[in-house]
Amino acid sequence: MELCSQNLEELSLWMEQQGEKKFRAKQVFQAIYHNRISDFSLMTSLPLSFREKLQKSFLFPSMQLVKIQEEDETKKFLWKLCDGYLVESVLIQSEERRTVCVSSQVGCKVSCAFCASGKKGWKRNLSSGEILEQVLLIQKFLSTENESVSQIVFMGMGEPLENYDNVVKAIRMMISPEGFGLSARRISLSTVGVIEGIHRLGQENLKINLVLSLHAPNQEIRQKLIPYAYKYLLPDLLEAMDQYFQNTGRDLTYEYVLFEGVNDSEKDAYQLSRLLQKKHACLNLIPYNPIEGGSWRRPKNEIIERFQQIMIEEGIPTTWRYTKGKDISAACGQLALQDLASRDLASRDLALQDIEKKPC
Ligand code: SAH
Repeated sequence: MELCSQNLEELSLWMEQQGEKKFRAKQVFQAIYHNRISDFSLMTSLPLSFREKLQKSFLFPSMQLVKIQEEDETKKFLWKLCDGYLVESVLIQSEERRTVCVSSQVGCKVSCAFCASGKKGWKRNLSSGEILEQVLLIQKFLSTENESVSQIVFMGMGEPLENYDNVVKAIRMMISPEGFGLSARRISLSTVGVIEGIHRLGQENLKINLVLSLHAPNQEIRQKLIPYAYKYLLPDLLEAMDQYFQNTGRDLTYEYVLFEGVNDSEKDAYQLSRLLQKKHACLNLIPYNPIEGGSWRRPKNEIIERFQQIMIEEGIPTTWRYTKGKDISAACGQLALQDLASRDLASRDLALQDIEKKPC
């Protein structure tokens, strides 16, 4: 059982069932989330026998850092899960932000044509604890530099709304004052557009930022890029986004990956601007990051600049996301499912930093 998959109520119940004092649950939370201790033996405020009992009953941490790759302000962390699967998270450090990009699944079922994450299929959902631990362990890494995680984005591997319950549970732990304690405004979830999930999320009273991977100014182009576009039609999707805004008051972000000759013309820009008029929307342009075997091309900078200019002239706040971490395959869409061969390889280039203590 993973310790980080337990919320406070569940852990308190476990304490009761074990004949322990209920307040012990709060003490454990304090140690993990406030004092950021990730080793039972260092939780010295707790009696030794109790620590040993915890150690026998729970996995914590449940994953092991395999390696860190670094490029400019970007670090990619490779984790080995307790069943041997590998997942990645990315830390992007800028002047004012320390953003952790988390994965929500091992692989991805959606299989967007241009994204590396679904190329080798889907293996399993991450538990809420595995999602949360990515943040906790990166926070531990940052603590050595006296820094703190300031933003969390669900933009790593996987479709978060296809792992709805675990993702929402992890988010609740991220924002709970007894948990990681980050403001909901600092958490963003990016979805390919799963309408039921968007509706449910709007009812959760979570008020996190919602990001839709739009990537096309119309249904026809979207269907060429995103298999799920057949299932979830554009007007319904935009309506679900509007509803999310109505329910939460959070502005919406639309992501638009630009592919040369596919969705980057002036006509596309004008059509897109009509789609997003009066939608409380920000547009984020992402030039395509090449993936292995992909035949797409990223547009020239002048084309991207012109696209952005049109959008701004048409009244849509539009940013252009500069690519970071491309050479270590940490940029958008480049996180790929590592296969069994690289699982073996994982144990060879082990641990730049030894975070893991308990084998699973
Ligand atoms: N499943 C979620 C999270 C995916 S990753 C979603 O679809 O939103 C976050 C963003 O990276 C998405 O907008 C995704 O479409 C984009 N992306 C995927 N592959 C890319 C690539 N090769 N180049 C640039 N962006 C890419």
